[in-house]
Amino acid sequence: MGFDSFRGNPAAVRLLRMAANGRRTGHAYLFFGTEGTGKRTLAGIFAQALLCGGGEEKPCGRCLACRKFEKGVHPDYAVLRKPPDRAFLTVDQIRALREALYIRPNEADRRVVLIENCETMNAPAANALLKILEEPPSYAVFLLTASSQRAVPETILSRCIPVELFEVPLSEAERWLAEQFPSAGPEERRQALLYGGGNLGRSRAFLEDPAVRQGYERAAALAEALTSRREYDVLAALAPLEGDRGAFDRLLRDFDRILARVAVCAFAGTQDPEAEALARRISPLQAAALHEQAGAARTALSFNGNLALTAAAFGAGLRSVMERG
Ligand SMILES: [Zn+2]
Repeated sequence: MGFDSFRGNPAAVRLLRMAANGRRTGHAYLFFGTEGTGKRTLAGIFAQALLCGGGEEKPCGRCLACRKFEKGVHPDYAVLRKPPDRAFLTVDQIRALREALYIRPNEADRRVVLIENCETMNAPAANALLKILEEPPSYAVFLLTASSQRAVPETILSRCIPVELFEVPLSEAERWLAEQFPSAGPEERRQALLYGGGNLGRSRAFLEDPAVRQGYERAAALAEALTSRREYDVLAALAPLEGDRGAFDRLLRDFDRILARVAVCAFAGTQDPEAEALARRISPLQAAALHEQAGAARTALSFNGNLALTAAAFGAGLRSVMERG
């Protein structure tokens, strides 16, 4: 996988391509952007390019280093992430990394370390990483990912070259979906495109993960029932969530994205019949008020609010918006 395979984000790609193919490479890069915008993918291509031993254009995809990288066995590349059963990426992991880093590279000119979701580091881990970043071995390059710059301690941020990733234009996402999922039907791809809204990871998840699709269908059913004033169906859409915080949060996010699609239809010609149908049944003001209700419920969930109460308050809030007309 070379830089050409990465979609959208031309400024970020240009910056990294020049860094990998020239002599001026920084010691640390922070890839940040919404989940699904390709931070890990692009960091991986950059890492491969930094280790590549061949070709005019790195990564060449053919040299021994590239082949080892693609098999996941390059000795000078390490990935650090929070263990699934832990709350944080810990200081022990950073200490182990530091020891490994002081051994010179085995095969390449560099050692490359990818630290995924660095906002999951606790304070001792972040301090330990900062010490390494203050005086890194000359051959080390750190690639960090995070959902936003704000999630990263200022002291670490100031030592990183920022690489921000964005959603891609819909036309580009449409082409990408056709290439990546040729066996999906056109209707399925259309749904995935609208669900992702230019976020390729989100579109991919829609096609590959049945739970994502199911969650979206529940949010769509809620929007449909609400705007059609089918009270019983609104309750039915909310009922299963009272025991499942994660599913509730996903529903709120999906519901909010559907409202965003409705808002877009109000002033632009779209090819989004689902959203257009909803837009005919509610006013832009109602859509905005529903969006506020979803935001309030997500805030309550993030502060660990009682699940059943939050669901009840959300249901009552939706009802009052619809009654206001
Ligand atoms: Zn290569």
